[in-house]
Amino acid sequence: MRPADVVRRATAYLERHGVESPQANAEGLLMSVLGTDRADLYARTEGLDARQARLFGRALCQRCAGTPLQHLTGEQAFRRIRLEVRPGVFVPRPETEMLVELALAALGPAEDPVVVDVGTGTGAIALAIKHERPDASVFATDVAAEAVELARANAERLGLDVHVLEGPFLGPVPGDLRGWVDLVVSNPPYVAPETYADLPAEVRADPEEALLGGLEIYRELGERSSGWLRDGGWLAVEIDSTQADAVTGLLAHDYGEVRVERDLTGRDRVVLARRFPGDP
Ligand code: SAH
Repeated sequence: MRPADVVRRATAYLERHGVESPQANAEGLLMSVLGTDRADLYARTEGLDARQARLFGRALCQRCAGTPLQHLTGEQAFRRIRLEVRPGVFVPRPETEMLVELALAALGPAEDPVVVDVGTGTGAIALAIKHERPDASVFATDVAAEAVELARANAERLGLDVHVLEGPFLGPVPGDLRGWVDLVVSNPPYVAPETYADLPAEVRADPEEALLGGLEIYRELGERSSGWLRDGGWLAVEIDSTQADAVTGLLAHDYGEVRVERDLTGRDRVVLARRFPGDP
């Protein structure tokens, strides 16, 4: 059977088992097993060998049982880079690409900006920013040792010079950068405990500490970032669509300008806050 036919049958199988986006999942799993890209997958005429068929069959079963696609393929595309992912570290989401877009726009053309990504996980935000703004000095922090290790491995593999540091908020960033940071960016754990139980099993496959948070983390991010930012520097955070008013309210204490941006589905998704001279 040609790989294209394998995809067709696997798509039907995943669909019957209620897997969302069955074709993209079937393609993703087969590309991973064959070590190839989408164009080649459909161009190939030779079938799978016995080992590939066994691996693919097992991956399909695991996918139906709720294992996230990225844990089976071991990677996730994020903007223009591919990141290694591992169970135990949050898998970057497509929504977060917009946070990077807005953060890059906020940086503007000024050369050699200093950027800090708080709660970096795989390193997604920090690495995408360094990739698209090579002149930036980029720091990334995380409290989880597994995340720090993975983010460093991703940085090395991608050949991107990002300083990944273990510790909370901006704590591990070199102190002489106080007052010199152009941008603090973060997609922190923001799922409220009361909605956690309702999340799909696949989302709960990410570590609880990477998901569970709430408003408190934004208050701390706002307070702890302001002393590091230069005048006119930005704080950019991803939020849950229900948190926009609360987060803008919290940040309005320390920042002169606060605005909310919506994602493509019209939901509030990112809050940008700018530190003005004379802000506390
Ligand atoms: N920004 C990444 C990861 C998001 S998950 C992405 O978008 O893909 C949130 C991450 O924040 C987790 O890796 C968690 O370990 C980390 N974290 C939680 N509290 C933190 C804190 N106070 N300081 C730094 N990192 C924190």
